Amino acid sequence: MMVSGPLCRVESSFMTEAKSYWRLVVFRCVSCGRNEAFAEESCAVEPREDQIRATTYQAICRHCGWQGEAHGISAVEMRSGVERRTAIRNK
Ligand SMILES: [Zn+2]
Repeated sequence: MMVSGPLCRVESSFMTEAKSYWRLVVFRCVSCGRNEAFAEESCAVEPREDQIRATTYQAICRHCGWQGEAHGISAVEMRSGVERRTAIRNK
């Protein structure tokens, strides 16, 4: 691979690409008993399951509106993913 010249900017554009991760954790609501209490957060590093379980979240129930602390260890479901932000700059 002999690539050179001013058009070769693959490396620098890769460096400016910011990735952020999100995770959604679902809990059983302590008020209504449904699995409708959600906590969401975004973070700079990829979330690991053991980290999620060690974290206390502020959860909100979509069914009854209950809000409170929920421990990751009691999560009934967790989802995570990557959000790619390519050079989005406000001003
Ligand atoms: Zn509820």
